[in-house]
Parts: sequence; C-alpha cells; structure tokens
Amino acid sequence: MSLPLAKRWFERRVVDVDLTLIWEPHVHPLLRCNIWHLRGRAADLLVDTGLGVASLRTAARDLFDKSLMAVATHAHADHVGSLHEFDARLIHRDEAASLLKGRESYSLDLADYDAPSRARLARVGYDISGGLLTAAPHQGYLPGNHRQQGVEPTRVLVEGDVVDLGDRAFEVLHLPGHSPGSIGLWEAATGLLFSGDAIYDGPLLDEIPGADIAVYRHTMERLLTLPVSTVHGGHDGSFGAERLAQIAQAYLRRTDRLG
Ligand SMILES: [Zn+2]
Repeated sequence: MSLPLAKRWFERRVVDVDLTLIWEPHVHPLLRCNIWHLRGRAADLLVDTGLGVASLRTAARDLFDKSLMAVATHAHADHVGSLHEFDARLIHRDEAASLLKGRESYSLDLADYDAPSRARLARVGYDISGGLLTAAPHQGYLPGNHRQQGVEPTRVLVEGDVVDLGDRAFEVLHLPGHSPGSIGLWEAATGLLFSGDAIYDGPLLDEIPGADIAVYRHTMERLLTLPVSTVHGGHDGSFGAERLAQIAQAYLRRTDRLG
C-alpha cells in the first residue's frame, strides 16, 4: 500500500502565550507524541521530539531562535526521534544507555507487526489495523526502513535536578513505571506538569518491555499527592487535577491485584 504524500508533517497550536504544542497528524495515536515548546527568558524548553520521520528542527526553525534545551521524558522511539537534531539533549540517567543505542530497525510498516502484537495493542485500546502512518513525509519514503537514531545525551538528569529557563524553573520528577527513567518536569510555582508517558489521558502502556506495574503504582500514588493545576502529557489532551486523580485512581484499581 502506498501512502499519500503529506503536505506538512508537523502541525502546531499556540496553547498559551509562551507554550506551543507540535504534533504529527499523520502518525497513529499510539506513536503520536506531544511535542511541547516553551519560551523562557534565558533559554527555551523543548519537551520530546516526535518520531523522527521528518526534521523537527527544520519544520519549527522559526521557534528555535535562542538557546534551547531538548528534554526527552523517556527514550521511547516516538519521543526521541528528532532529539539528535538538537545541541542540548537531556534525559534521565536510567534512559541514557537506551537513547545512545537507538534502534537500527523500528518498522512503521504494519506488515511487520504480527497478529499477537496487534491483538495486544487492541486490547489496551490501540487499534493499529489501519496502519501506523496515514501519509508519507517525502517521496519514496519506506515505513519499513524507519530506525531510531542513537544519540548521546549532553546532560543526564536525576530526581530533584532543575531545568532552569531563567524566569521559570522545572524540577525533575522521576516517575518510573511506563519505562525505568520516565520523568516529569514540574513547575511548583504554577502547578504545571509535563508528564511524558507517566500519565496522559489515553490508554496507558504498562506491559511493554521496561515497564513495571508495581513501580508504576508508586508513581500514580505520588502523582496523586502533587498539587497540579495543568498536566501536559506525552500523548492526548491536557487536563487538570480532577482528571489526574481519576486516571491515577483508575490505574490503581485496575492493577490492585497485579502490583
Ligand atoms: Zn513511551
């Protein structure tokens, strides 16, 4: 099956004066990560970088007019695809090796997904039977040839570290469970949380390699104690404290006997 050519690979929306959401409309929600760009006084923050199918740096170059810190919430392929395009690359210590290694082959061709893995995804809420991409980024593009380019982080983060933009500061929260070194970026002054895949308003993945349900439960319990105003997740729409509590409590109920 040949894919139609995309007019534009990335879409974007200004969410708030300084905050822009960028996403990849032609990518299946399973792999369509939220890319957040936040302007700071001294430096800008980029949270996650998409699948790396097309150049994020080129597509959004008008946004990147000053010093920029590109933070990966974790090293999964849909979050770090374009990380190698940026000079300052931050990730948690427990994801650094996986980021560096990359993946020589990360097929986006549905033909490479066997029935059991499709069924597993469908069970949690991701029906990929229509394909992982609905368009091609350029002429001659082959989804089966996709790979995740390995790259070295320039700064390794741990719990409590601060990502300082000059006028705004985000504390690193280690939120493992979805992956060992998943992080959130927490701005205590405003209650803003960039949560990556630790929590978002969609089907959560806790049975993939590297995930750990018992550990994930601790993260959910921790999130319930956080005085959030707004959560900008790694996928799907943003939400407030009430929705966070619903999602976290539903997770804890669902995994009650498993954790
Ligand atoms: Zn992930």
